[in-house]
Parts: sequence; C-alpha cells; structure tokens
Amino acid sequence: MTELRGIGVGKGIVLGKLHVWRRGRTPEREPGTGNPERERQRFQDACAQAGQELEALEQRIRESLGEEEAQVFFGHRMLLEDPLFAEMAGEILEKERTSAAWAAHQAGEQLAGQLEALEEAEWVARAADLRDVADRVVGILQHRQRQPLPEEPCILAAEDLTPSETAQMDTSRILGMAVSQGSLHCHTAILARSRNLPAVVALEAKPTAEWEGCPAALDAGRGLLILNPTREQLEELEQRREVEQQRQSQLQCLRGLPSVTRDGHPVSVCANVGNQRDLEAALAQGADGIGLFRTELLFLEADHWPAEEEQLAVYRRAVESMEGRQVVIRTLDIGADKQLSYAPLETEENPALGCRGIRFCLARPQVFRTQLRAIYRASAYGRAAILYPMIAGEEELRQVLDFSAQVRGELEQEGIPVGQVEQGIMVETPAAALMGDRLAGLVDFFSIGTNDLTQYTLAADRQNARTAGYFAGCHPAVWRLVEESAAAAARAGIWVGVCGDLAGDPAYTALLLRLGVRELSVAPFQVLEIRRQVRETDLSDKAFAFGSGYAGSNKNLAEDLEQS
Ligand code: PEP
Ligand code: MG
Repeated sequence: MTELRGIGVGKGIVLGKLHVWRRGRTPEREPGTGNPERERQRFQDACAQAGQELEALEQRIRESLGEEEAQVFFGHRMLLEDPLFAEMAGEILEKERTSAAWAAHQAGEQLAGQLEALEEAEWVARAADLRDVADRVVGILQHRQRQPLPEEPCILAAEDLTPSETAQMDTSRILGMAVSQGSLHCHTAILARSRNLPAVVALEAKPTAEWEGCPAALDAGRGLLILNPTREQLEELEQRREVEQQRQSQLQCLRGLPSVTRDGHPVSVCANVGNQRDLEAALAQGADGIGLFRTELLFLEADHWPAEEEQLAVYRRAVESMEGRQVVIRTLDIGADKQLSYAPLETEENPALGCRGIRFCLARPQVFRTQLRAIYRASAYGRAAILYPMIAGEEELRQVLDFSAQVRGELEQEGIPVGQVEQGIMVETPAAALMGDRLAGLVDFFSIGTNDLTQYTLAADRQNARTAGYFAGCHPAVWRLVEESAAAAARAGIWVGVCGDLAGDPAYTALLLRLGVRELSVAPFQVLEIRRQVRETDLSDKAFAFGSGYAGSNKNLAEDLEQS
C-alpha cells in the first residue's frame, strides 16, 4: 500500500484500476525522405489537417462547455497559423534534411523554449500550448492513434494533461484523475470541477509504468491517492463513499426549497461563477443568486480587451438567466497570478502586494470605464450589483465610487437605460476589515473574501504549496477580522456576505450566520450542502444575537474559538 498526497479537487471517493496516460512518442531525429520540398509539403498538409481538427474541436467544446473553454482551441489555431512556426520548421528541414515530424517537433520545442525564457506565467502557459499544437502536427505525420481509454472505467493517472487531451477525453470512462503537476486552477482541475469528477492534482509522485492496472482509491476530499489499498482501507473508504452518495441524493431534495434557518431567518445561498458553464450549474443547483461573478475569466480567455458590447452580452445573459435574483458582478480583479496575454503587466517583486484588483483598474480608467458601462447597461435587464475588489482605504473607495457614479451619469445623459445597482466592496484586505466602520457608510454591502483576507492576515501566499500549512481560514486572527467587518456592517445597516472559500465549509455556516452574515456565496456544487446547513441552524438557542455581533461567553468570537 502506498499513500500519495496532493491537492484535492471536489469531494468524491472512487475505487478502481489506474490507467497511466502516456503522451505519444516523441519523434527521433530521422532523415525523412531526404527531399526537403517533399517534407515541407507533408508539414503543410499536416498543419492544414491540424487546423481542421482544432476548428471542429473548438466548435464541439463551444457547444458542450461554453465559449471560454472553446477559446483555448481558438488560441491553438492562432499558434498553428503563426508564420514563425512554419518558418522555423522550414529552416530545420533545409538545414538538417530531416523528416517533417522531427522539424515540427523541433520548431515547437525551440519556440516554446523562447517563450519560457521570458519567465512570465502567461508566456510559460503559451509555451505549453505551443508544444500541444506541435505535438498534434507530429501525431498526424506519424499517423498516431489517440490513446484509447480502457473499456472498464478507470482512475486516470498522468504527469500532466494538456488542454487538448483533457477536452477530448471521454470522461464517461474516467472515475477520477490524479495528476502530478498543476494547481487548483489548472486545466485538469477545471475539467474535473465542471464534470464533477473527483481529482487530485500536484500529486507528490509521478506515475510510473508499474501503476498501470494497479488497484487504487482516490479520495479527493482528503487529496489522497492510495495505491494497492489494504482491505481495511477499502472497507473504510467504501463506507464513507456510501455515506457521501446518500448525502448527495438527499441534498437534491433541497433544490427549490428556501434557504432559511430553523427559526425563520432568511439567508441567501448564492453561487460563485466565472463563465457560462458555472452559471448553468448555479441554475441547476437552484442558487438564490450569484454572490460573486469573477469577471477576470472573461478577460483571461480573450486575446484582446473585451469590448463594451462583448461584456454587455455576457453580463446581460447572467442577469437575465437569474430571473430577478441578484447577480453581484465583481470588477476586474487582475494582477498577481492572473496575467493577460494582450497586456503583459510589469514584473513585480511581490505581485500579490502589487498593482492588482482595484489598483489595476484605477491605473487604467478606460478599461474600468468600459467594464462599468457594460455592467450598468446590463442592469436594465435584471438585478445587478457591483463589487469592487482589493479595497484598502476610504480615499481609494471614494475615488472608485465617484468614478462609478460618473460613468452611470454619462449613460443616463446618453439616454441609455440603467437599473438600480447596489455598490459593494470585497473585504479582503486587513485594512478594509479594520476600517469597516468608515467604509460601511459609503456602500450598500460588504462581501468578505476570506481567501485573500487569510493570505494577507497570516502572511501566507495562497498559491505557494510550501505555505499551505500556514493558510488557515479558521485562524482566530482571520475570524476576528470577519467579526469586526460583520459588526461594522450591522452598525451601518448594510448587509454582509461571505464569498471566500470559508463560506463553502459547512463547519462554519452557523458561526457566520450568528455573526450576522446574510449571504453565503459558494461553488455551484456546494449550494445545496450549505442550504441544508442553513436550514439546520437555529440562531435562537445559542448565546448569539442574530445580526448584532457575537454575545458568547468571552470578549469575542476569536477568543472563544482559540479556547475551544
Ligand atoms: C477571496 O479573496 O476570498 C475571493 C473570493 O476572491 P478571489 O478568490 O477571486 O481572490
Ligand atoms: Mg480575492
């Protein structure tokens, strides 16, 4: 028995045989036909076929997963059509009098190497895409068959999976995925979430040939892959799996039921979304609204600044599909780990503390104006609210609100209809939490972003696997700030929600509600679980007063948590 740890995506437990995903063979340097012209023609024909395949794939993905995912393959086509790729392959053919497959492989490697040398996350990602494209051309030249998955559903183990591989995979034959590379935001994790497949990424070991066919258990909730589990482990996992399955089917009964505590306090259990697919999942799970629309995905997937009309179409679709339920649209939260290909940002020593979120938008008024115009225009079609990220002070917030009011005024002067739009801030810097009293008077709501609030309070980088042990949303210091923010909101008479990952943890639902939190916004597949938790909470039978802060035995909640 071997236990391997990684980062879990989802919650499920699956038992099955491992299948090791192997990339097609890398071509060796070979002489080809010895005729560069002939090889050049073969290269061009293979590129044409690859282009057709990518176009068909893009179309298929657009229909099944949505526009954002389809854009990945549009990007691949652009890389394929980039004249540099053909030029470099042509030079290799000329110089080395080699085969078209070797030239395609080498051209992909050399161009990818140049991109990687730029040492920017975005270019490194492009390099991986470029290798994926070159490999497709090589595969066509080598008449390579796509690796079939075993008939019997398996747990797929891979060192890494490219976007083409994940998108083309027949997931009906996959029970779960274990990948040695990646992070919570990699393509594999995105695919796993969208198809509700349990997965473990950043696994501590790379798959080897011996893993093929090996019995295994994958426990996504605990971020664990167990090879050759013992009988006792299997029994324990099987029991937990049954409990989980029963729980999941019971949860389905909660669709359409109100999110209200046992003693009658209404709560909104909303969904966090980033694209059309998430939105559909939120609707399917019966979310009470969208508590956080992360608009950066729209910007990240594009290859140009999304125009006002493009953004309007996306926001309008969101508010219309929610049919009167509120959609909280967060303005662009770019910077730090999130980089745009069409507007590379200056390298910063500490990007998480750099020009990200609202700082980025204030430095680019045209980008900010375009987005605000699109949100205000969408508000004429449904219930939209605006959420400003990374606010750290009163002056900054006043500047943001003035700018936003000015944009609204311009639209009204142009005779363009605009609806009622609540204005809110993410409370995700300790500064905002500590200054809650001053900020609450300026806005309609607070949305507490516990992910960044934890990172900044505990000085623990949320992207760094080495600081994962220091990153604890339940740390009393974080709770103290959550409590302060909720109390400031209550005093100012505005509503407060939590949209960070803490909101999705049922262990904290009752505590958050007792602090006066009125909205919990979670991943779409967590909506029903949190609704159930809300419905089981009784706020009247504890030493807490709903909406007026903590009234427990100690001075504050943080200290009680420390002592418990
Ligand atoms: C947060 O910081 O808690 C949050 C919800 O925003 P994001 O995870 O997008 O930074
Ligand atoms: Mg954040």
